[in-house]
Amino acid sequence: MKENYISKKLKINGIVQGVGFRPFVYNLANKFRLKGEVANTSSGVSIHIEGAKENIESFCSNLLKNHPPLAHLSEISFNEKPVEYFKNFSIVNSRSGNLRSTLISPDVSVCDDCLSELFDPDDRRYQYPFINCTNCGPRYTIINDIPYDRPNTSMKDFKMCAKCKAEYDDPSSRRFHAQPNACADCGPHVSLKNNIGKNIQSNNPIEKTASLLRKGYIIAIKGIGGFHLAADATNNDAVVRLRKRKHREEKPFAVMSYGLKQIREYAFIESEEEKLLNSIQKPVVLLRKKEANLLSREVSPNNRYFGVMLAYTPLHYLILDFGFTALIMTSGNISEEPMAIDNEDAFNRLGNIADYFLIHNRDIYLRSDDSIIRRTAGKTRFIRRSRGYVPVPVFLKSSVPQILACGAELKNTVCLTKEKTAFISQHIGDLENLATDSFFRLIIDHSKRILDINPEIIACDLHPDYLSTRYAEEQHGVKLIQVQHHHAHIASCMAENKLDSTVIGLSFDGNGYGTDGCIWGGEILIVEPARFRRAASLSYVSMPGSAAAIKEPWRMAVSYLYHAFGEEFWNLDLPLLKEIEEKNIKIIVEMISKKINSPLTSSLGRLFDGIAAIIGIRNNVSFEGQAAMELEMLADSNSDDIYNYEWLPDDTYKVLTQPIVCGVVKDMKAGIHSSRISSKFHMTIVKLFSELCEVIRKENGLNRIVLSGGVFQNSILLRGLIKALEEKRFEVYTHSKVPTNDGGISLGQAVVAAAIAKR
Ligand SMILES: [Zn+2]
Ligand SMILES: [Zn+2]
Ligand SMILES: [Zn+2]
Repeated sequence: MKENYISKKLKINGIVQGVGFRPFVYNLANKFRLKGEVANTSSGVSIHIEGAKENIESFCSNLLKNHPPLAHLSEISFNEKPVEYFKNFSIVNSRSGNLRSTLISPDVSVCDDCLSELFDPDDRRYQYPFINCTNCGPRYTIINDIPYDRPNTSMKDFKMCAKCKAEYDDPSSRRFHAQPNACADCGPHVSLKNNIGKNIQSNNPIEKTASLLRKGYIIAIKGIGGFHLAADATNNDAVVRLRKRKHREEKPFAVMSYGLKQIREYAFIESEEEKLLNSIQKPVVLLRKKEANLLSREVSPNNRYFGVMLAYTPLHYLILDFGFTALIMTSGNISEEPMAIDNEDAFNRLGNIADYFLIHNRDIYLRSDDSIIRRTAGKTRFIRRSRGYVPVPVFLKSSVPQILACGAELKNTVCLTKEKTAFISQHIGDLENLATDSFFRLIIDHSKRILDINPEIIACDLHPDYLSTRYAEEQHGVKLIQVQHHHAHIASCMAENKLDSTVIGLSFDGNGYGTDGCIWGGEILIVEPARFRRAASLSYVSMPGSAAAIKEPWRMAVSYLYHAFGEEFWNLDLPLLKEIEEKNIKIIVEMISKKINSPLTSSLGRLFDGIAAIIGIRNNVSFEGQAAMELEMLADSNSDDIYNYEWLPDDTYKVLTQPIVCGVVKDMKAGIHSSRISSKFHMTIVKLFSELCEVIRKENGLNRIVLSGGVFQNSILLRGLIKALEEKRFEVYTHSKVPTNDGGISLGQAVVAAAIAKR
């Protein structure tokens, strides 16, 4: 043999199983006339190749550049080997046993190849709503156990026909080892039912569904991660009816369109947003509304944005192909309960909302809501990280023990860690009802099984009454570590940015249980992963009625006003004093002064709510954070004016709310427009906290700043603080891999627990 005939062994870790990686390697090796073999291993794939040196080099560079879209290569090693003179290149069957990778691909949208077959009348899968291949389709939501083989998925009941089986066995086919492979002869089917489960006769249930949508009916449609409730977004009556039936007063509905052309009829798309919309994950992206558009005003009232996604299953494409501008596609649930995933449950729970049901007979094992993303300050920000992204792990800086972190009370996710990977679950929801609690337990058991993780440590919040805390305390034989909510927020952002040295952490948030039993949320913390110290916070005010003060921001307004003006506040000329009955305000004042059910809070989220109510935006909210969000939407962008501010030195700096509240009231009196007040308020928070950070930097010698907490979903604040802090030459770190809201807490709890265990 020639001198440059060499042999190499490649080990690749990451998501490389069940994503068409081995056939890709097989075809690539043949293209470059290389011999050898490829096999699955416990952590990924190993490749043995022999051939001309330059061909091996081309093979390697193609491997890195052109791998299948679902593959995620986390680690690669190359080793020279003695030449063995293989006769050909082959795919070696897994020797099963422990040769199974636990990295599972997420569910992703139908690929372009499948899409063109879907609309090709000559293709055998023409208009087949479950068309898929190794590059696309469901994964995570149909897996019940590992390894990822058909018998361990909800496709186990469908026996492949001869044609499908031939594709499945052919390494040169796009469907080689595609576990959900199917066709109309052998795979799942859709059917259209009325709301009591009676069949609706038609030659084409999808066409019939489209015509019902066109007439204004609400249809429950079974998708990949659960049921959606669909309605024509341009039909105001239908949208209003859906709001009423779903008990969802004002929270924006997500919409879905066929393509960018349709979206451009109602929203602006920036180039980075276009990439996100088109990505294989197909998240809901928040897009700025066009002023004049055809969609119902009720789709997202009092909001400058629409939550928009492109079709992502073949079924969506087939429905939207009937010419809709946009369909509302909102989670199939009642208010805050988990979304329905199986047919019977859907008829039971959604029968009073949907007029018709377009169902299918492929089971969904795990629900996974649509992911929601917003582009802010040049980065992708998750509002919800779920379908399309889960279970891709966050890769950590160093190895950690096997830990289960139970997450927060609201927007709950759980996190399981193993070595250098942290798996954050899909959105579970607010742990306030039985249905969500059982989903929480199901996800934990399911994830432990499919990720092959047996936690030795369990981490949870400090709050004694949370369901997640009680769950953690019930577990035996594991070490329990409780982590303060805002400590976890900052640690979560540190973990995704691979920081492990001490930082200044700004945790701007709604609610989190503090170490003193008060409700924190406007905090500057000095954080090293294992522990934290409070360096500054908003000064405490009462939260009259506790949770009721979150639903009724006017209560917070009264609290801030009473705190700033005492009994004098009765004489102010403010809308809320006219709109709320005097006797109700008196009750609140009494609760505050007598300390009845009025915990103390330093929450910045509550200050936003309070200011919103003081300037007359709204007194009550129908979803968490609504008042603060509308305050943000109102702000006019071109103003640098600010209010006076002040902090007091104490063992921690106490930022006073009185000067800000007094400034706002004074502007109200002077008839300044609320959009101007909102903007001044935002700029005040930016200026105040960036200056306070300078003081803290001087005292502690720390230059790295980490921003986390639900209030950073406010893009004016996030952009403003990043800019102000960078101008002061701080190194600023923010979230772009996990949500800044409580959906990211579980990751923080896990890394704090790992750091404590290490000590
Ligand atoms: Zn495909
Ligand atoms: Zn078939
Ligand atoms: Zn929080």
